[in-house]
Amino acid sequence: MTGRQSTAIPIQQPFSTPTEVFNKTKSGDFMAKYNKARGEFEAEHPELFVDDRHMPMRQRRDILTKRNELWREKLGIVAPQVPSLQDGSREAACIKCRDGGWVQPISTDKDGNRIYGAAVPCPNCNAQEDEKARRRLAYAGIPDTQSMATFETFKRVKGSEDAYDSAKALVFGAQFYVLLLMGPYGNGKTHLAYAAVREAAKQGMKARFLYFPDMLAEIRLRIDRSDNSQGFIEEVKAVQFLALDEIGFEHNTPWAAGLLEEIVNHRYAGTLHTILTTNRDIKTLPMPLQSRFKDRGVAKIVLNQAPDYRPKKKAPA
Ligand SMILES: [Zn+2]
Repeated sequence: MTGRQSTAIPIQQPFSTPTEVFNKTKSGDFMAKYNKARGEFEAEHPELFVDDRHMPMRQRRDILTKRNELWREKLGIVAPQVPSLQDGSREAACIKCRDGGWVQPISTDKDGNRIYGAAVPCPNCNAQEDEKARRRLAYAGIPDTQSMATFETFKRVKGSEDAYDSAKALVFGAQFYVLLLMGPYGNGKTHLAYAAVREAAKQGMKARFLYFPDMLAEIRLRIDRSDNSQGFIEEVKAVQFLALDEIGFEHNTPWAAGLLEEIVNHRYAGTLHTILTTNRDIKTLPMPLQSRFKDRGVAKIVLNQAPDYRPKKKAPA
């Protein structure tokens, strides 16, 4: 992994004529149907194919409107009303850009000539993107009280620099893909885990934050209710970007330790980005996990040495 991210957006040509679109379709059979329909159409409506060069603008426009309207109707027999640019034989999911992703504003000058503006990202598709982003963030499981826990708001005090840099690198491209943040309570490990998940979600990843004890409680509850606990475990194992907070806590049972091992092993095998935090010594973690975390190039252990800088009084979140 180089950490280099391509910002180039593949530009598709969203303004092809229907004919061009249909030409792109592979089916010769389809093209034959299309050409036959066009021939029939021209024969059926000779009044729409007159020489209109000397007609007044209004009359020309009326003919064009009528011709388009009737042609679309006719096309309905053989083709989608609004063919997708990606596959002309099916309807476009976005009727604004016809799945091209770009639209070109068109205006008309005083002589009725079309003026084409610069292509801009399709506002309709972008609205869908916003909705997807909103859903990704909702899925991430970051409580509202932590909405300010971002990389920007992180207090980069002495001793926490490496933790901050590593958490950020995990999202934006690092040599490792498993990050274990160790250190005492309240020095910002959880803040970094929230920030990483939020940023990963923003980057388009399916990302999830889980407080490990809560995750165990959820699984126990599901087992009690026979409510697909395995499905939940599989989801945690496979999610694109995972933060597990407080993995080494005092009452870790063999069951919990085994589960943690299963999750981490799976994520190692799948090279899935994972950030884990603990305020315990690494020696309290299951042995196989200890050696996993020491696997340099794959995992990184960072000791966050910043002191507890939370206000002594309980902060109003
Ligand atoms: Zn669109």
